Amino acid sequence: MSTRFEIGDITIHRIIEQEGPFFEAMQFFPALTKDLLDQNREWLQPRFINARDQLMLCIQSYIVKTPHHTIMIDSCVGNHKPRPTRSFWHMMNSDRYEKNLAASGFGVNDIDFVMCTHLHTDHVGWNTRLENGRWVPTFPNATYIMADRELAHWTQREKENPQSVPWITDSVLPVIEAKRAKIVTSDFVFDDSIRLLPSPGHTIDHFSVLIGRSRAEALITGDMIHSPLQGRYPELGMMSDHDSIQAGTTRRTIFDRFCDEPTIMCVTHFPSPSTARVQRWADGYRFIPVSG
Ligand SMILES: [Zn+2]
Repeated sequence: MSTRFEIGDITIHRIIEQEGPFFEAMQFFPALTKDLLDQNREWLQPRFINARDQLMLCIQSYIVKTPHHTIMIDSCVGNHKPRPTRSFWHMMNSDRYEKNLAASGFGVNDIDFVMCTHLHTDHVGWNTRLENGRWVPTFPNATYIMADRELAHWTQREKENPQSVPWITDSVLPVIEAKRAKIVTSDFVFDDSIRLLPSPGHTIDHFSVLIGRSRAEALITGDMIHSPLQGRYPELGMMSDHDSIQAGTTRRTIFDRFCDEPTIMCVTHFPSPSTARVQRWADGYRFIPVSG
């Protein structure tokens, strides 16, 4: 299975932490009806949902290696983290992520930047690791890039009820305290080949990452989409959305912009190879896989 591909002098790697069935489709998409699922089961199975109607998801980071920088986008779930409401992520203790990072040729010291598309538990976990009972930045040389309104939203929630957002306490705030964060707007231009693209709705100030100099070569989506079912039906919201209506508008705007273009969508939670081009499909969009 390929976990890397090249765009000119930029290489994009995938670092997988987990891949498999995670949530019941009907719970994950609250507005999904049995009828609609039945109508789509044939193309969704077995790749995107299994025989028990559970979503097949990948939990992974992308690493964008340019001639100048090594940039990680999202940092998965992490180890030793209490996640009492998510049994499959609770107190994980696995060497898979670090092994896959090493297999791609990276050590923790090599990462120059970590971009957090949004501050959900499965996107910030490896921001920190446990050292002598304290949470410290996993990537000691990295600057962590976060969107200003996203950080403000979650910081406030943590202040009001820390038990409800343990990942902010152990995986976001320690990075701020260590002065490793760079707080930007969600349309921040990183350099001449990498820029943030606002994709709000799933969270309040979610961003995707657009790669390419003269044209849009690739888009690291983050969680602006979780399943190709949300391509066919862009208005289909998922259970953790901040604003599902806005998320639907974002999907339409972004897919409309990139459909029938060569732009490769690097979708964080799609099963491997997780990369696809977008095509128009009736009133929605479909994904044509591209392998590495
Ligand atoms: Zn999310």
